Amino acid sequence: MDGSVNILGETIYALSSGAGAAGVAVVRVSGPQVDSILELLGVSTLPVPRYAALHNILNPKTSEILDQALVIRFPGPGSFTGEDVAELHIHGGEAVLTAVLAALRDTGLARMAGNGEFTRRAFENGKLDLTAAEAIGDLVASRTDEQRKLALRQYDGGLADLYEGWRSELIALLGYAEAEIDFSDEDLPDALHHLVVDKIVAIKQRVIDHSNTALLGEQIRTGFPISILGAPNAGKSSLMNLLARRDVAIVSEVAGTTRDVIEVQMNLGGYAVTISDTAGIRDSDDEIEAEGVRRAEQLAQHSALKIVVIDAAEPVLPDRVRRVIDTDTLVVVNKSDLGPVPVWVGDIFDTQEVPTLSAKTGDGLEEFVSIISGLVRIKLAAYEGPVPTRQRHRESLQECVDALKRAEAAVLPELAAEDVRLAVRALGRITGRVDIDEVLDTVFRDFCIGK
Ligand code: GDP
Repeated sequence: MDGSVNILGETIYALSSGAGAAGVAVVRVSGPQVDSILELLGVSTLPVPRYAALHNILNPKTSEILDQALVIRFPGPGSFTGEDVAELHIHGGEAVLTAVLAALRDTGLARMAGNGEFTRRAFENGKLDLTAAEAIGDLVASRTDEQRKLALRQYDGGLADLYEGWRSELIALLGYAEAEIDFSDEDLPDALHHLVVDKIVAIKQRVIDHSNTALLGEQIRTGFPISILGAPNAGKSSLMNLLARRDVAIVSEVAGTTRDVIEVQMNLGGYAVTISDTAGIRDSDDEIEAEGVRRAEQLAQHSALKIVVIDAAEPVLPDRVRRVIDTDTLVVVNKSDLGPVPVWVGDIFDTQEVPTLSAKTGDGLEEFVSIISGLVRIKLAAYEGPVPTRQRHRESLQECVDALKRAEAAVLPELAAEDVRLAVRALGRITGRVDIDEVLDTVFRDFCIGK
């Protein structure tokens, strides 16, 4: 939804289960008119709260029977949104759904919900904090087990508890800082001042350590970034296609075909990864190709893992390719079907650690995929506990750290207190405790209707 209109008095409805034909579809209705709407739809005796009851659903204008549905009522505030809610479990056919949604509209008492409007109401009624609301979106969108776990941890309050904990500690410190202000003429013991500063420093460090895992959270959520690099014709596009099991990159015998970066999201051994196929690295007079090479080298710096593909039939490793290889690089020898691993590979790398494969025959692919997912697992396992998952979180954490740094350095207790207050506010913004309006739209914009 666009966020500007959200009249809590209105009753809203939407399909809350997935689109497309299915055995059952769940239509959710929320707002003060829920019971009147049920009556208009022919549910004359209201079902006992939280018990399913079978009812005919009628067209409110013609009384024609539209479907048989299981109806469940959740009177507010003990419902998902905190308002009166009803769920209609109808048959999941397109025509049934269209008829039931039209019937809801024809009651004249409700309108179609906007994106994320149910969850937004839940937030506004204090049912969940903003990080939990975001986690619902992530749970629904999760494609891999890691994404599901991350989202569930956040939904369970992993992030919110952490931030609320720091917030209360800082609020407690504000008490001390204010005592310093009130009693500044009376020479409060220095020890108190040191205690406050020490605590500020300690909390600041915890926020910094936590912020350092932010990139990781975003990587799990959106896909662990892996780039495929190498000389032209090494077989990068072929490898990408093989991994994605569909033709995404152009495979061609003309060197320099992949001129831009091609990105594909996939599930690799249980992890969501974003793999980028890049232009073959070589010096080129062609301006466009040279730009592609530049982008490939730039991307190499931002990938969490680089795969450098070496052509088994090539006599040397070009210098420019060699330069992108570092500790975050997995080197793989391709075209194993054409012959053994060239001798020079052993001169540069420990051949035990260099996997070989054939992108043409698929030989060695399985081992290669398990090596990659093993590396991803090691990188992700370095972090336990809740991690920030959005840029929004990262920005507020940075604001908090900046404010605490200023507080730590402040000469006057008044200034320190003001900065601690700003730090408190920055943390509160993440969970939605303060200044919420400006962040609400960003959070709920990406939701789909029915959530
Ligand atoms: P890129 O320029 O690195 O993306 O390389 P491509 O994937 O476009 O492949 C270049 C050429 O090598 C194509 O003709 C592919 O069919 C061929 N090729 C790729 N992988 C293999 C392989 O494992 N074995 C053999 N024999 N040829 C391959």
